Amino acid sequence: MEHDGPVSEQPAVPTAVSAEMRHAKVRAATEHTTVGQVVTTDDGRVTIDCACGMVLSNGPTWSLDDHIRLHRAEARFLALAAVAPAGIPRLVDWPLGQA
Ligand SMILES: [Zn+2]
Repeated sequence: MEHDGPVSEQPAVPTAVSAEMRHAKVRAATEHTTVGQVVTTDDGRVTIDCACGMVLSNGPTWSLDDHIRLHRAEARFLALAAVAPAGIPRLVDWPLGQA
């Protein structure tokens, strides 16, 4: 740890992350929690439902955990990208699908 002082309860810069982006991240996490149990399908795959309605599963070259991680990262990205301030430099062109 590089902290040598006490970690303050309040962030030093309260506006470090805009409220909108913070809310978007929380919303994405809430809307994309896995629900129920892992199910093994007849063809031997393992699946689990996401709260958004998508079924996450393993595949020929990826694990169920890979899919869950990617799905959550995509959801977080989409939520944050949608509310990020105008003019912010981006790694990915936004909106998506505009060449
Ligand atoms: Zn989801």
